[in-house]
Amino acid sequence: MLVVMKAQATPEEIQAVCDHIEMLGFRAHPLPGAQRTAIGITGNKSEVDRGNLEELSGVAEVIRVSKAYKLASRDVKEEDTVIRFPGTDAAIGGHGLAIIAGPCSIENRDQAFAIAEQVAASGAQFFRGGAYKPRTSPYAFQGLGVEALRIMAEIRDRFGLRIVTEAMDKETLDLVAEVADVVQIGARNMQNFSLLKHAGHLHKPVLIKRGLSATLEEFLMAAEYVMSEGNYEVILCERGVRTFADHTRNTLDLSIIPAVQRLSHLPILVDPSHGTGKRDSVLPMARAGVASGADGILVEVHDHPEKALSDGPQSIYPDQFATMMNELEQIAPVVGRNLPRGIHVQAATA
Ligand code: PEP
Ligand code: MN
Repeated sequence: MLVVMKAQATPEEIQAVCDHIEMLGFRAHPLPGAQRTAIGITGNKSEVDRGNLEELSGVAEVIRVSKAYKLASRDVKEEDTVIRFPGTDAAIGGHGLAIIAGPCSIENRDQAFAIAEQVAASGAQFFRGGAYKPRTSPYAFQGLGVEALRIMAEIRDRFGLRIVTEAMDKETLDLVAEVADVVQIGARNMQNFSLLKHAGHLHKPVLIKRGLSATLEEFLMAAEYVMSEGNYEVILCERGVRTFADHTRNTLDLSIIPAVQRLSHLPILVDPSHGTGKRDSVLPMARAGVASGADGILVEVHDHPEKALSDGPQSIYPDQFATMMNELEQIAPVVGRNLPRGIHVQAATA
């Protein structure tokens, strides 16, 4: 159910409606919009009695939301969600494209700093590196863990770049969230429901990568898990799915971009690195990702990919990243966007 407040409803009226919903034993999710606030109701096993709600002061109407995902749906919030990063001009989901770049794994301080410096010089606002890596083989490099988090905290201080990094389990979630500006939940964990619920308690945006065989509805339901716990800052990321095609590591399903945007207000990014697994395919698919209307690109960059401890073959060189930025800058206006270059951090909150 969804309670739509009148445009002129006061904060007190909104609070009173939330209190009423909670008093009935449900959970209230106030979602302010440009025109009016909508309050999503979750936790109801059966129909909520709309009669009393409609009588409350400031309420315009009470609507039934029939979709399985509710808080992630455009039925509940019409306008696009824009995720902002306090003390900076960076945003994900707004007019400007968000570019998230960095190595698959943080391997050591020098490697991470060298790559961060180069992606920052090309104008990326977000640096992504893995501290905890989900690897198919238990014998493969698993990430530097806490040491990598420390290195990324230094990178944040030095370059102002906002940090994106993955949390693989609930044990390390809080540790990761201390350093990360965005906590990534990987493809293999897209249906790790207990991890998603824990991420719903963070006061940090959560980036969810599409599962290897996830349908659109399953993808949106993963977002719903996080949102249902009260964290509405969710970013989706298309990273390719398994198909019979074997010319690429995964099949990058760009057709999900407009489909998500029709159904959901959440931002969606494209990851052409995992989506193709091939360096030569990354730039063309990054261009296609922006052309398809994605809110940004998540890309793996390495200065010595031949020596990378993970995902070297799909990592682009820093000069290719610079080219990518120039190309995306030109494509952006065609789809009504722009490409902000560099991040501006206010001294007090840096
Ligand atoms: C990654 O981002 O490095 C990663 C392992 O991605 P995914 O979860 O999409 O496979
Ligand atoms: Mn990777």
